[in-house]
Amino acid sequence: MTARPAGPPFKAMLLSCFDPRIQAPIASWMMRSVPGSHATSLRGQYSQFTIAGGAVGITASFFPEAWRQTFWDNFATTIELHGIKNLVAVNHSNCGSCGIAFGKDVPNDPERERKIHIESVTELRQALSLRHPDIGFQAWYLARDPAGRFTEWTNLIPGPLIG
Ligand SMILES: [Zn+2]
Repeated sequence: MTARPAGPPFKAMLLSCFDPRIQAPIASWMMRSVPGSHATSLRGQYSQFTIAGGAVGITASFFPEAWRQTFWDNFATTIELHGIKNLVAVNHSNCGSCGIAFGKDVPNDPERERKIHIESVTELRQALSLRHPDIGFQAWYLARDPAGRFTEWTNLIPGPLIG
């Protein structure tokens, strides 16, 4: 007989955009330790919700209300099934979905776009605190380096370190 684990091994849900360019960089970021986010690799320990725009997709009034509802229903389900304790939101620069919602010139206007992403994760944090006040929240921004690769990570909203 083997000993029962102390608790469920699952720690967080990742919310991010469906943009093909960011999938690999985000996965590798989740699977290494990151100061200010997670102390060890989260490999096998997080659930994932991927939608156009990430936090923008579930906060911008341009997108259907059904998207928001689907997110929150899934979030309640991952809490129930997996016992996760944190929501990690990763938005990214040059986001086409952000352009759809706020104007096609926005993804090529870094300052303006960044402001929109900050507003979206701030609104998401507020909604989370009403729906699930016991869940930790952190938000990050993944931007491109001068070579055009998505390598530059900035913490937009700090949250509890995921151990
Ligand atoms: Zn995007």
